[in-house]
Amino acid sequence: MSTPIFDNIRVVLVNTSHPGNIGGAARALKNMGLSRLYLVAPKEFPADKAVWRAAGAQDVLEQAVVVDTLDEAIGDCGLVVGTSARGRRIPWPLVNPRECGERVWHEAQQHDVAVIFGREDRGLTNEELHKCNYHVHIPSNEEYSSLNLAAAVQVLAYEVRMASIAEKEGKLPKFEDWDMPPANRDAQERYFEHLQETLEKLGFLEPGNPRQTMTRLRRLYNRVRLDQMELSILRGVLTATQNYIFHTDKKLKDAEDRD
Ligand code: SAH
Repeated sequence: MSTPIFDNIRVVLVNTSHPGNIGGAARALKNMGLSRLYLVAPKEFPADKAVWRAAGAQDVLEQAVVVDTLDEAIGDCGLVVGTSARGRRIPWPLVNPRECGERVWHEAQQHDVAVIFGREDRGLTNEELHKCNYHVHIPSNEEYSSLNLAAAVQVLAYEVRMASIAEKEGKLPKFEDWDMPPANRDAQERYFEHLQETLEKLGFLEPGNPRQTMTRLRRLYNRVRLDQMELSILRGVLTATQNYIFHTDKKLKDAEDRD
């Protein structure tokens, strides 16, 4: 039987091509006591092939939430972990599958958690990976590192189950307690938009062309793991900065008009 903690954990499959993999993932989840599947713009779903591969996990498929964008699938989550079959250009905080299971299990006691899986041919884009708090890599054969999508879901779902057992046995590692919930993904995305807009108004960023700066700022804030209170203070700072720029610009303009 699934418990409320399992229910706070969702697996998100992005742009899946083969419906068989969706069915395989549903089965992998149910075997491990998980049930929440989100599908971001799947190429073919619903599909018979998904039903066949799901076998006894058809209920997980029937309850799967289909959305158009990744943001819709993870917006209300306090922790987002992205999977990657290979290293990326800008390194991100990385956990192994065991640490991923433990952290996911721990945090799911307080808030919703998402683990995201990528496309069969290309994985997750950098932009998608940069929305994640952590990346997880299954340490596979370096010469052939990419697992089948449903197999990768199985490995990480198994680790969540192992963490749930470790907790019952009092063997889950200790995590830091915090007095405030973390800012969820939606709040962070709104913050990054506000930050970019402010930095453009200040002339620090070229409008519409943040290059790698926003990525590095995302990584910086991500390392800190902003809580809800800290994020609202920072939003206030940005609003005050924009007001200051507005009034300064206005004063300059009024002075020019008088000249
Ligand atoms: N060719 C793609 C691999 C995609 S495999 C690439 O280079 O990124 C499809 C998905 O399965 C990946 O996006 C990831 O979610 C998962 N996956 C496969 N192998 C993995 C591994 N070794 N570690 C973590 N996730 C993996």
